[in-house]
Amino acid sequence: MNFSLTCLNCSQKIDIDAAASVESLQCPHCHDTIKLRRGRMNIGEKINGRYKSLYKVSDDGFSGYFAALDEKSEKIKLLRVFDKTLTFSLQQPEAFIETAESFSPYGGKCQLPIYETGIDNDFIYQLMPFAKIESLEKLIECGYIWEPIQALDLIYELLLSLDEAYIATKSGHFSLTPRNIFIDDQGRLLYNDFGLAPTSYRINVS
Ligand SMILES: [Zn+2]
Repeated sequence: MNFSLTCLNCSQKIDIDAAASVESLQCPHCHDTIKLRRGRMNIGEKINGRYKSLYKVSDDGFSGYFAALDEKSEKIKLLRVFDKTLTFSLQQPEAFIETAESFSPYGGKCQLPIYETGIDNDFIYQLMPFAKIESLEKLIECGYIWEPIQALDLIYELLLSLDEAYIATKSGHFSLTPRNIFIDDQGRLLYNDFGLAPTSYRINVS
């Protein structure tokens, strides 16, 4: 998934790959340091006046996943909050949310189910049923290695789910990385972001 940023120092446009896990980058034109993760959601903050983040479950470099208390239903939910960098890099955040929402029911059986997508205080967020998840990136970073047969099983599950999503949407995922593929505490494979890549593509070309 690619985003365009405008350097605040020299006003030049820079294209960045959101899959690159960096906190800041140097402007190729004026060499100013641009902080990419300004506007990050913190623990204890509230979204939409009701979803209070309790602790961080995972972080993919441009969004954080939190265990959050829904103060209305008094249930724990999984809340994903994108850094404000995403909101400010989009020309039409509302159109992005609308398209992402229309894709979310058809992302295949392994996609984390999304109850709600929205924007509050410039934070784009997604609300999901609570799950303890860890990204493949984090697991590999911590030294976990899958047996070949186990890895093939996971890939097979992933492909079945993506095929299901392709049949329903005639669209692909386009941005699968070890950072948006997760294993939950039952050992199940899950992914996120189906629809986000085609969404940002459609908004950029329209
Ligand atoms: Zn610059």
